[in-house]
Amino acid sequence: MGFLLKILLFGVAVYGAYRTYRHWKGLFDRFTGNANPPQRRPAAPPPQTAQQAPPPTRKPAVIEDTVQCAGCGAYISTSAEKCGQCGRPRP
Ligand SMILES: [Zn+2]
Repeated sequence: MGFLLKILLFGVAVYGAYRTYRHWKGLFDRFTGNANPPQRRPAAPPPQTAQQAPPPTRKPAVIEDTVQCAGCGAYISTSAEKCGQCGRPRP
């Protein structure tokens, strides 16, 4: 049992020495201004999605010509055959 106790004490002593070393090293670094900030990994780039959707292509805004229906007054496109409201043929 004495042997185990010695090992245990030795471990505690080493641990204490380590903590003391870190403590004083930290103080020293702070004093000298050499304190190295905690290691920070470089910011990982955002995960690239395998399928990167292309930017949505915008169709050029087509200003459709509209004509007013003579029957109901609704605006119908010139490409329409007849009025969608009343069915009257486009003027
Ligand atoms: Zn109409």
